[in-house]
Amino acid sequence: PSSYSVGTMSERFDCHYCRDSLQGKKYVQKEGRHCCVKCFEKICANTCIECKKPIGADSKELHFKNRYWHDSCFRCFKCHMSLVNEPFMLRENNKVWCSNCTATEDAPRCKGCFKPIIAGDQNVEYKKMVWHKDCFTCSQCKKVIGSGSFFPKGDEFYCVSCHEHKFAKTCAKCKNDLEEEPVWLTTKMNPGMITVSNAQSVPV
Ligand SMILES: [Zn+2]
Ligand SMILES: [Zn+2]
Ligand SMILES: [Zn+2]
Ligand SMILES: [Zn+2]
Ligand SMILES: [Zn+2]
Ligand SMILES: [Zn+2]
Repeated sequence: PSSYSVGTMSERFDCHYCRDSLQGKKYVQKEGRHCCVKCFEKICANTCIECKKPIGADSKELHFKNRYWHDSCFRCFKCHMSLVNEPFMLRENNKVWCSNCTATEDAPRCKGCFKPIIAGDQNVEYKKMVWHKDCFTCSQCKKVIGSGSFFPKGDEFYCVSCHEHKFAKTCAKCKNDLEEEPVWLTTKMNPGMITVSNAQSVPV
């Protein structure tokens, strides 16, 4: 219902609304009616969901799921990059987001550096917590544990050798170390799938 065409009138038509002659002037044809550019803007034009202004016959209009934008208003809510001909996500409050900002926003946060773990990052998971592989470090020597074995002690994690120095208990009787089983981590790739779709501009 939103499609319309713009042209220069060669016949003797009057504006459907204000009755001004359209001959030799730019006019808009919409739903079988001819009207002047002014009336189009006042009466027929779609309203841009971003700036709330009418999208006049001279502007390029984008529409997606019954929402309309000036092409200049169709920008990522976060980074303000133009999303014309770019993949985007329509999110809450009718804001559009670029795929980068969407992936960053929705990504789980690393327990070590508190930055998002985005698609393609190697990460480790332990008891529903996640780290970048390189952020999962020994509390004592700060070496990267990565996907190796470690000993959890409360909120701290120790590599095998630090654990040996710090915590290994010796049997009072035979003086041999009491073995404690380390925990193993496996690394995996964050698939980070998002769905994007493309805006289409109205044929003008
Ligand atoms: Zn008019
Ligand atoms: Zn706008
Ligand atoms: Zn963005
Ligand atoms: Zn991290
Ligand atoms: Zn260590
Ligand atoms: Zn013993």
